[in-house]
Amino acid sequence: MKPVGKPGRTGELMPVEVALARLLALAAAAPIRDTETLPLAACEGRVLAQDLVSTLDLPPWPNSAMDGYALHLADWTGEPLPVSQRIFAGQAPEALARGTCARIFTGAPVPAGADCVEMQENAQVQADGRVVFTQSLRVQQNIRPQGQETTVGEVVLPAGTRLGPIEQGLAASLGCATLEVIRRVHVAVLSTGDELIEPGQPLGPGQIYNSNRVLLCSWLTRMGCEVLDAGILPDDLPATRQRLVELGDVDLILSTGGVSVGEADFLGIALREEGELALWKLAIKPGKPLTCGHYRGVPVIGLPGNPASTLVTFALLARPYLLRRQGVQAVEPLTFQVPAGFVWAKPGNRREYLRGRLEQGRAVIYKNQSSGVLRSAAWAEGLVEVREGSTLAQGDEVGFIPLSEVLG
Ligand code: AMP
Ligand code: MG
Repeated sequence: MKPVGKPGRTGELMPVEVALARLLALAAAAPIRDTETLPLAACEGRVLAQDLVSTLDLPPWPNSAMDGYALHLADWTGEPLPVSQRIFAGQAPEALARGTCARIFTGAPVPAGADCVEMQENAQVQADGRVVFTQSLRVQQNIRPQGQETTVGEVVLPAGTRLGPIEQGLAASLGCATLEVIRRVHVAVLSTGDELIEPGQPLGPGQIYNSNRVLLCSWLTRMGCEVLDAGILPDDLPATRQRLVELGDVDLILSTGGVSVGEADFLGIALREEGELALWKLAIKPGKPLTCGHYRGVPVIGLPGNPASTLVTFALLARPYLLRRQGVQAVEPLTFQVPAGFVWAKPGNRREYLRGRLEQGRAVIYKNQSSGVLRSAAWAEGLVEVREGSTLAQGDEVGFIPLSEVLG
């Protein structure tokens, strides 16, 4: 990617990382500390409230990594060894009798006195039942030692870890039936605009269907938030005031639309009356305007209304904010560097998040990148990041954030 002109010169625009740093600082200053104890299976998407400390060694005892034979290596002189016991997973073996070997299966405890397991493929059972080994043997081979994965007292998952299937599986392996997690974040979702109606109703003149409401509500639900669907807010000051009062005590009011400097910014007016509101002009495309403030002490984030802008600003700014409120440290999505499969000739003064896909390992972009076109994101597998002031030739490196990284 070649910087053109003065990189980073964005005029009055706020760079994405500055906006993110500010939002994360606000989030860190308003942490959600209340916790609840949940059955392990209900912890998906939630955030661990306390370090998970192992009360076990894992494995709790040395066990066999193979189906084969356990022996005391010093007993193997080339003379066939008799089989003195058979040990299946789930059994407690007896100590190995000297001069013998034990038939053993994967996951079964290695008997005291044995220091080597040979896989059955390298063993020959003679007609008299005694066993010879065809390959050279090493001490400790094919034995998973006690505590190989974890030892008692180790922090296995730190507080602030986002829990998913892998963490749930790990907690289960340590015997945890429940975990203490941060309570759900309560988010009120507001869609603003007189032009909006809900799907299922006939479309009148000048109207469009409200897509941001369901987009955000289901995204937030996936993230483990408790969503208060606050419906559509008309472009009207008294109605806006009234609705804000009704919202009550949520952790965040998340609105879309009405944040451009347009005349219909009633949410902004109402918030300024009883709170505080900053309008940020971000060096991001789609997305430029974003509001940030509070209403009677309740934090408010106002995302731009165009659906692709809503998506991008939620993914890159509001989502990290919500995770940080819960104490998550790793809030930024992984970005991969991939070669561009397209040309970008005109450097912009905003960082672009193009809706794109990987084809033969190269990022390609949807034909229409208008901020109103949500179909671009449905087609896409990720956001292709083109830095401000850059041009791209085919094959130049470009950032790629898989949507799967942020959609949960
Ligand atoms: P605004 O920020 O209110 O000026 O809205 C910017 C654009 O996004 C306008 O074209 C709106 O009609 C559109 N828009 C705003 N909110 C929504 C929504 N909830 N669903 C779909 N489009 C919206
Ligand atoms: Mg509007």
